[in-house]
Amino acid sequence: MRLFAIFGDPVEHSRSPLMHNLAFKALRFNACYTRVHLKDGSKLRERFLDLSLSGANVTVPHKEEAFKACDEVRGYAKKLGVVNTIVLEDGKLIGYNTDADGFVHSIAEFTRIKRVLLLGSGGTAKALAPKLTECGYKVVVLNRSQNGLDHLRSAGIECYTHDEFSSHNFDLVLNTTSAGLSDDSLPAREDLLRDLLQSALLAYDVIYGKMTPFLELAKSLGVEYKDGSSMLLAQGVLANRLFTQNLFSVDEIEPEMRRSFLL
Ligand code: NDP
Repeated sequence: MRLFAIFGDPVEHSRSPLMHNLAFKALRFNACYTRVHLKDGSKLRERFLDLSLSGANVTVPHKEEAFKACDEVRGYAKKLGVVNTIVLEDGKLIGYNTDADGFVHSIAEFTRIKRVLLLGSGGTAKALAPKLTECGYKVVVLNRSQNGLDHLRSAGIECYTHDEFSSHNFDLVLNTTSAGLSDDSLPAREDLLRDLLQSALLAYDVIYGKMTPFLELAKSLGVEYKDGSSMLLAQGVLANRLFTQNLFSVDEIEPEMRRSFLL
C-alpha cells in the first residue's frame, strides 16, 4: 500500500486526508493518506523519506520550504518557487503546484471580475498573484509587512504594505492570509476592509470550512462571499491525478472527492 500525507502547522483542520482517501477507495487505488504536524519546515524532506511516503501535499506555512526540499520542480511551481504537491519518482522528490490552477477554476463563473485585491504575500499569494495576472486579471497585493513583497514585485505585481496603501475599487477582495484560520483576527484594519468590500462583487477567503471574521464582515455588508472549499477541491483533484500517475481522469476523481464535503 502506498502512503501519502499532508504536512502543515496547523494541520488538524485539513480535509485533504478525507478527500484523498475517499477517492483512493472508490477508484480502488491501494493507498492511504494521513496528516503530519510539522513545525520545522526544514525537516520536511527528512520526514517524507523517514515515513516512506509516495507523495505529499504541503500546507501553511511550509510551501516555500517544500520547493527547497525537492530534487526537481516541474510546471508552474518552478516559476513560482512554491510547491504544494510532492510525488516520489525513482527515489526523487518531484514538486508541483496545483493551488493556482485550482483557484482560477473556482472563480471562472464570476465573469465580471477584472480587478483583484489580494491580501497576503505568503506561499498562496505567490502562487495565485502571477497566475491571475497571466489570466488577464489586474492584481494588487496588500500585506501587513514587507515579507514576500520583493518576490512579487520582481514578478511585475503591484504591491503595498498596509501603511503604504490607499483604497481603490476592486471587484474581488481575496484573503490569502492565515488570519482567521485559528484565531479571530481580520486580515487588515476593519475600516479599510469595510471600505474595500462595499464596492466589491465578491469576497473570497481561501480558508475553508468556517466563517472567518473576514467572511462575516462581507456577509454583514451584504457582499457575496465564498470560502476556499471549491479551491481545495480543484487543487486536490489535480494533486490526486499526480499521486495516481494520471491513471484516472478529473471526471473520475472529482465526484468522489466532492462527496467528502457532505460528510
Ligand atoms: P503563509 O504562512 O505562507 O503566509 C501567510 C500570510 O498571511 C503572510 O502574508 C502573513 O503576513 C499573513 N498573515 C498571517 N497572519 C496574519 C494576520 N493576523 N493579519 C494579517 N496578515 C496575516 O501561508 P499560506 O500562503 O501557505 O496559506 C495561507 C492560508 O491559505 C492558510 O489559511 C491556508 O490554510 C489557506 N489555503 C487554502 C487553500 C485551499 O485550497 N482552500 C490552498 C492553500 C492555502 P506576514 O508575512 O507579514 O507575516
